Amino acid sequence: MQHSFVLTRAFALQRLTHVLPRTGRAYADGRDIDRGAEAEPSTTALSPWLRRRLLLEEEVIDAALAMHGPAAAGKFVEEVFWRSYFKGHLETHPSIWTDYLALTAQGQARLATQSGLRRVYEDAIAGRTGIDGFDHWARQLVETGWLHNHARMWFASIWIFTLRLPWALGAAFFLRHLLDGDPASNTLSWRWAGGLHTRGKPYVARVENIHRYTEGRFSPQHLDENPVPLEEEALHPALPLQPADQAPRGEVALLLHLDDLHPESLMLGDARVVRVGGLLVHAPQAAEAVRRADEVAMTDALARAAAWFGCPAGLATPGWEAGLPIITAWAPVGPSAAVLPAGCTRIRREWDSQVWPYATRGYFQVRKMIPACMKVPRHQS
Ligand SMILES: Cc1cc2nc3c(=O)[nH]c(=O)nc-3n(C[C@H](O)[C@H](O)[C@H](O)COP(=O)(O)OP(=O)(O)OC[C@H]3O[C@@H](n4cnc5c(N)ncnc54)[C@H](O)[C@@H]3O)c2cc1C
Repeated sequence: MQHSFVLTRAFALQRLTHVLPRTGRAYADGRDIDRGAEAEPSTTALSPWLRRRLLLEEEVIDAALAMHGPAAAGKFVEEVFWRSYFKGHLETHPSIWTDYLALTAQGQARLATQSGLRRVYEDAIAGRTGIDGFDHWARQLVETGWLHNHARMWFASIWIFTLRLPWALGAAFFLRHLLDGDPASNTLSWRWAGGLHTRGKPYVARVENIHRYTEGRFSPQHLDENPVPLEEEALHPALPLQPADQAPRGEVALLLHLDDLHPESLMLGDARVVRVGGLLVHAPQAAEAVRRADEVAMTDALARAAAWFGCPAGLATPGWEAGLPIITAWAPVGPSAAVLPAGCTRIRREWDSQVWPYATRGYFQVRKMIPACMKVPRHQS
């Protein structure tokens, strides 16, 4: 049955309890199978909560380790670290995001003038290409806001290599509709599928693989199974991580945003929060369902923050901070970071400070430091 995504912390904890039993060996063995929207997924479907930090990475990792131990939970833990890796990678390669935004705008301009391209694109996003599986996933994404990881991989590969559509337009289609839409995981995964992230090594969707891991539901014909990897002229040099700020002493106004909605666990030192504001910045052209999910998540976080700090909390309208210094959780590269007020104090979580320096190249460096990372200070509640 279709799982529901109610984006509150209370619902996230319920869902975590529900899926925890299958984050051990069952996850490692079955996570590649996509059973479709009507079945319980083989993975946890925690991503919409993790993306907004209604749940923290370390919380779900700790819970999985406590239930299954490091050997059985190892695969699940590694997958959660992919999220942290991608965030750190985009943070140290911010030009990948600006390049993606520019390519999306270029792609949209081409759609306006090139009718052939526009037809293929419109058929693709409406699920009318005639490609078995692909059409189903396009409609599932729009209707439910979520796709299994393997379906995302097949979809991106077919979009790029069989339909020969610009990768950035596919990434933008995902970002509009995914309830877990994330600048880092989405942009870098699309680049990976095209052979831009791991240069020259695209992800190739194969009929046999799709048939097997959809348990025979789909067998698309005429896929390009020998694609030429994408290339790009743009260079994306790694930049040093920007230093995080120290929390000031005394009274502050705390600004919440959609990248971090767990204010209870922020390390605020001697700062005393006396006001809370919410910055609601959706993904570019976000679908109605995504905007509603963002609003529910923000409303939930503001209510929790008001209770936790014992102060007023509401959307950040002009003058909300009442002249106080503004403090905020670090917003990684993306729509919220782009509009944070100048001069606000940005607190980075230990988790990010620990992982991101290892994320400048491939995932391997992050994977190696997972055992050490297990020792970082934990959330407080
Ligand atoms: C083309 C493409 C686009 C994607 N776009 C997004 C996106 O916009 N937002 C997003 O959160 N993920 C994205 N992913 C990554 C991945 O598909 C989802 O995180 C995952 O499917 C979420 O399902 P889950 O919660 O059941 O994952 P589980 O398998 O249960 O894993 C638990 C958590 O680990 C993290 N995780 C697992 N696999 C990955 C992965 N491959 N990359 C990064 N994090 C991972 C997620 O936070 C996930 O919730 C994309 C992948 C591809 C191939």
